[in-house]
This record gives sequence, C-alpha cells and structure tokens, in this order.
Amino acid sequence: MGTTATAQRVLLVEGRSHRPALFTDPHHRCLGSHRGLPYSAVRDKKSVTRQTLDDLKQQIPLMGYLQAHDWHPARPLSRGRWMGLCPLHTDRKPSFLVDPNQNLFYCYGCGRGGDVIRFAELYHQVKFPQALALLRQWRGAEPLLQEVARFYGVQLHRHGEAVTYLYQRGVRSLELIEHMRIGYAPGGCLRGWLTQLGHSLPALRQAGLVTGVGYDAYVRRIVFPLESNLYGRSVSASAPPHRFLPGAKGGLYAWAQAQSYPEVILVEGLFDYAVLWQAGFHNVTCSLGTHLNARQFRQLCDAPRTVYLTFDADPHGSGQQAAQGLSQRLREQGIDTRLVSLPEGDDPNSFFVQGGDAQQFQSLLEAARP
Ligand SMILES: [Zn+2]
Repeated sequence: MGTTATAQRVLLVEGRSHRPALFTDPHHRCLGSHRGLPYSAVRDKKSVTRQTLDDLKQQIPLMGYLQAHDWHPARPLSRGRWMGLCPLHTDRKPSFLVDPNQNLFYCYGCGRGGDVIRFAELYHQVKFPQALALLRQWRGAEPLLQEVARFYGVQLHRHGEAVTYLYQRGVRSLELIEHMRIGYAPGGCLRGWLTQLGHSLPALRQAGLVTGVGYDAYVRRIVFPLESNLYGRSVSASAPPHRFLPGAKGGLYAWAQAQSYPEVILVEGLFDYAVLWQAGFHNVTCSLGTHLNARQFRQLCDAPRTVYLTFDADPHGSGQQAAQGLSQRLREQGIDTRLVSLPEGDDPNSFFVQGGDAQQFQSLLEAARP
C-alpha cells in the first residue's frame, strides 16, 4: 500500500483549495506529512471533516498508540524526537523516527511516514475507513473493557462454580489469578451494572458485551482480559467453549513480560499459559490458537531468540502440523525454533493437571528437536 494508492483514495471536499499533500509542511520533510484537507471515505458519502480527524488524532497521541503496539523508543534525538526499530518492516537497526510533538513518524528504511491514522492503515493493513474505525474502537473500548474486567474479577470470588472450574484446570494460586486478572461472567448482571454506571445500551451492544436482545453476551464463562478484548471460556459443556468479543484478538499474550527472554515458550491456550506461569516459567506467551496473526508473528521476530513451540499433541496431529508450519516461517526470519513433544493427547495444561511438574516439563524442553 504505497503513497500513490493513499493519494488516490483521498477525496478532497468540494470547493476547497489545498496545498500539495506530501512533504510541503514546514517541519522536517522526513517526518512524513500531515494529511491534506478533509477527505471522505471512498464510497462513503458522509464526509469526514478535518475537525473530526484532528480530534481523533489528539485523543490518540501517536507515541502512546505506538507503545501500546509494542514499539520501543531506542534512541533520543533533538527536540524530543525518538528513533526505534520500524514496526512496518523487518528492521535491524533503528530507522523509525517519531516526533511526539508533531504526532508524525517516518521510516528511513521503508520510506513510509505520516500520522497515527496512516500508521494504523499500514500496521493493520487496512484501508482508511477501517483504520478510522479501528482507532475509534481502540479509543472507546479501552476504559469500558477495564471496567468490565474489574467487575468480572469481583464476581469470580462470589461464584463457587468458577473457583471449582479453575481448580480443575490447574489454577491453584491467588497470585496467578491476580497476574492474569482472571474473572468470571455469571451472566445476567453485567448489563445492569454498566447501565447504572451510565454506559448506554447501544455502546454495550457495539462492544459485543450485550446481545441484540439485551442479555449479557458472556454467561457462565471464565474471563481473561486481553489487550483490547476479553476471552471467555465456558464452564458449561453445553455452550461453545471459546469466545471473544468482536474485534481482533490482539498481539501475543503478556508479550511485554516474555519478550526480554532469549528463549520463549509459545503455547496456544490461556490455560496452558496459566499452568506454565504458575510452575515458574515466566518466559511463556500465548497465541490464542495455533494460527498467529501478522502482529503476533512480527512480535516473535522482533529480536534474535529461540522459540519453543508447545502446541497440543492432539491425536489428529493438527497442533503438530501447525507447529511445523510456523517453525518453518520463523526460521525463514532467522528465528531459532524447537518443537516440544508432549505425551500423545496432552496439552501443557493437561500435562500439569495430571501431575506433571516443572522439572518434567523442563526435560521436555531440553529434549525438544529443532
Ligand atoms: Zn520501515
């Protein structure tokens, strides 16, 4: 998605003159450009005013958005600007320049630059209207989901069935529950609580917390807060086991903690993560399924490291197949990998639940083949 494509998508509002869009602002040319005057989304008759865009950009400072997407400023420059590795291409030495005062970025490696909206377009590989929608969702959902996570956290200790379920799945310590901020959605009480706090029903519907007919979306589910979503695991066998709220599952789970280790254990489920963390393996992360999204894949490749792929040893071999495919793709990016073989039919969670301990798991790691 190059600059030309963007320029073609940008429609100017009728009757307004504008300056040439690119590289004519008085600031450093390499910081990319402020956008031209108002543009409307293609095929969307409702024009997006400049004011709306400026408001959105002001509410989502570029630096904060970058850091929430795992970008780290590596080297300070003059006038408050920073250099770091480029999150848009495989970058070996810092070539990504950020000016937090102007809210602009420019990469000397891939030549791309712009504002937070342009960054969202490139990073999530979406078109302009979807980038706006993602940013709006990100701005709006954050405080609401924090509130919901806190509420579910309180519910956990009030519902014996939730505590029993966690115990059966090997979650035995309060420290782990607090670390993962595990909660419980009993159903039938979230909507009332949130509307009492002043959240509107349409907003709750839009976030997917309440169904179209007004019931709590999560009923009898253990809930794990993710960076911009909530994963809900049903404790009842009659409901679909896994659910997410609408929207992306986000990056790797607890990546900020795992990424500093030279060796990282990758698992597919949060209960796998839980038992490993509890057993003292804090270099663990979780992809929430065997299919990694583009962002999760980039995270694993952001520094030299060895990744221990520890997917389920299901009888059909689909976990192992997924691990082999991923291993090959990681190796193409220069990342060292090991395939961890669990006993047939096991996943890391069942391995520990059935009595496996940290030392035995360590032996599996040591026996893992490249
Ligand atoms: Zn770049």
